[in-house]
Amino acid sequence: MMKFYPAALTCLLTVIMGSCATLVPQRTPPGVTVNLVPKGLYARKYHRPMTPQYITIHATENRSRGAGAYSHSQMLKGGALKGRHNAIGYVAWHFTVDDHSTYQSLPTNERGEHADYDGPGNRTSIGIEMCENRGNDRTRTIDRTARLVAWLMREHGIPLSRVVPHMHWRMIRHDDRRDLGHKKCPHFLLDQGRLGPKWQAFLSKVESYRRQMIL
Ligand SMILES: [Zn+2]
Repeated sequence: MMKFYPAALTCLLTVIMGSCATLVPQRTPPGVTVNLVPKGLYARKYHRPMTPQYITIHATENRSRGAGAYSHSQMLKGGALKGRHNAIGYVAWHFTVDDHSTYQSLPTNERGEHADYDGPGNRTSIGIEMCENRGNDRTRTIDRTARLVAWLMREHGIPLSRVVPHMHWRMIRHDDRRDLGHKKCPHFLLDQGRLGPKWQAFLSKVESYRRQMIL
């Protein structure tokens, strides 16, 4: 006779009804303000569970004054960022970081639309956008991002080899299957559009924060 354990049974029932990922309580990283896209609306109009396996790093390329983490989170929350070529019609990512604040827009157990349309980047990764607005201190933004990445790695058991730039993913549009290739993002952590010393320095920073958290 098959033996069922309560957790396995709960999980099995959840798989039938939805997903195990929804059962896992979500903790908020230190220093992060939660300002989620409303459940059932915009980028969350369908429930799309995700078990995070990667962390994808972006830069907003939005240099207008005031385009910090809070205003990006408000835009996501109000459905202002449309995704004309993706499956859900809106763009969304999990965290936005600037030099003094971080806002969370999606739970880490729900997928976003920030990396590669229907590809594994969106299906399996937590998306983090670094702000570039005028007056924002980029060095501090990168440092705060590295600290957040280290926390998320520990929380979700994600290795450093799975912390990737947006450029890692190949973008093939959902609607017309147009292949956009690999976007050179985050541009300021690339060297002549490629992975080089700047990306390595970022990973080293992440790793040093990760080690500090373990000690
Ligand atoms: Zn990007």
